[in-house]
Order: sequence, then structure tokens, then C-alpha cells
Amino acid sequence: MALMITDECTSCDACIPACPNEAISRGDPIFVIDALKCTECVGAHDEPQCKLVCPAACIVDNPDFPESKEQLLEKYNALHS
Ligand code: SF4
Ligand code: SF4
Repeated sequence: MALMITDECTSCDACIPACPNEAISRGDPIFVIDALKCTECVGAHDEPQCKLVCPAACIVDNPDFPESKEQLLEKYNALHS
């Protein structure tokens, strides 16, 4: 399941360098996760790095993108092939 950023985001910039898939970009007014690039960090890390660094705790599951761990790994491999 891809993650998404809620409107609690303070645009602090901490999450962008933490993402192994370059899935996060600066939006207006809040930052945005590209669900087609987010793998919940599967393939690169044991847990979502953006959630670890976010001081606002505003990164949550995106219910529109239910994906298994296997699908997330396939997505990661496709992004990095
Ligand atoms: S969970 Fe991982 S892949 Fe998804 S946006 Fe956050 S840092 Fe990037
Ligand atoms: S780390 Fe959290 S508060 Fe900061 S820009 Fe990213 S989503 Fe927004």
C-alpha cells in the first residue's frame, strides 16, 4: 500500500531526501507522495523512512492503493531496473 501525506504537513522538507524512490515532491501547500513510486520502502528498508523522519506524523496509508508486499517489491524492482 502506498503512503500519502495529510494536510497536517508543515512542508519541513525532511522526507524528500529519506525516500529511496524519489516518490515525494513539494506540493502547494503540502508535500505529495507519488503513489506509483511509493513502495512503503519495500526493497530498500525495513520500514517507511518518510514516516520515521516526519516530525508532524502526517504520513498515512493511501487506501486507494492496496498492494501486497510482493507487489511492492515488484514495483521497487521496476523503478530501479
Ligand atoms: S514509504 Fe518509502 S518509498 Fe514511500 S514515500 Fe515514504 S520514503 Fe518513499
Ligand atoms: S517530513 Fe512530514 S511534515 Fe515534513 S514535509 Fe514531509 S510530510 Fe511534511
